[in-house]
Amino acid sequence: MNGLEPALYIVATPIGNLSDLTRRAEEVLRNADVVAAEDTRHSKLLLDHYGIKPPQMVAFHDHNELERRDAIAEKVSAGLAVALISDAGTPLICDPGFHVVDLCRESGIRVVPVPGCCAAITALSASGLPTDRFVFRGFLPVKDKALREALESLRGETATTVFYESPRRVLDTVRLMAEILGSRRLVIARELTKTFESFYDHPADEMASFLAEDPDRQRGEFVIMVAGAASPEEGEVTAEAERVLKVLLPLMPMRKAAKAAAEITGLRGNDLYEAALRLSGKES
Ligand code: SAM
Repeated sequence: MNGLEPALYIVATPIGNLSDLTRRAEEVLRNADVVAAEDTRHSKLLLDHYGIKPPQMVAFHDHNELERRDAIAEKVSAGLAVALISDAGTPLICDPGFHVVDLCRESGIRVVPVPGCCAAITALSASGLPTDRFVFRGFLPVKDKALREALESLRGETATTVFYESPRRVLDTVRLMAEILGSRRLVIARELTKTFESFYDHPADEMASFLAEDPDRQRGEFVIMVAGAASPEEGEVTAEAERVLKVLLPLMPMRKAAKAAAEITGLRGNDLYEAALRLSGKES
């Protein structure tokens, strides 16, 4: 051991700008007995930049996580300090690590977070969108039907929603957002902390043509943030809530449908019951 308590350290690393490694993260990486990295070659660039030469480096990625997690937990149990890093940002946030953290916690092995960069939080912090409530949805589904369903679920979402997206898909995703969400405000954070860092802020139905105009705008790494739907006034039943009610009403009694719709949409059950009466033509 090199002066670090035995534990699994979950160490956040920069998302572009190498100076964004925290001093504590540097210290942990310098003193860890083992660094488990998603891509050892990629992480060596960061470690070399700081002159850090771990005694042992192991590859730990999506394809070997289940197989390697026991070995990692055993190293910590044997008294070693193991630092887990991913290619960029905070491990486990759309990155490997969940299974080993879960195993360590279950086995009473100490897990220590060493916080730092996360693309979602970095993007939100400078987006100008409300951040008092936000939903992080990671990467969108790839299959058409699931993708469409995921985006349709945003119709009634009043919190800011954050997605990660690849350059290959960003234009198509934004086009579909425009189709489903119309003029809802989008903010796209591109290449955060890097030379070409940009924030694009346009309604969904204008964002697609804005991106298409210049292929450079589709290059790099992206966080897409979708503004929340306007909160309904008290007593107001949104179009989305009516759509949910119309699906539920043929399947269950009216009170139950109103209650389920209230849970799905976050609106008041009484307002939805009134709407259900109206929709069924039973209004007094
Ligand atoms: N663990 C990372 C974190 O804490 O943000 C995320 C890893 S995930 C595999 C990679 C995705 O994060 C990218 O496809 C992109 O959507 C987003 N991302 C990472 N770095 C970024 C950057 N510098 N600018 C914009 N988005 C970034």
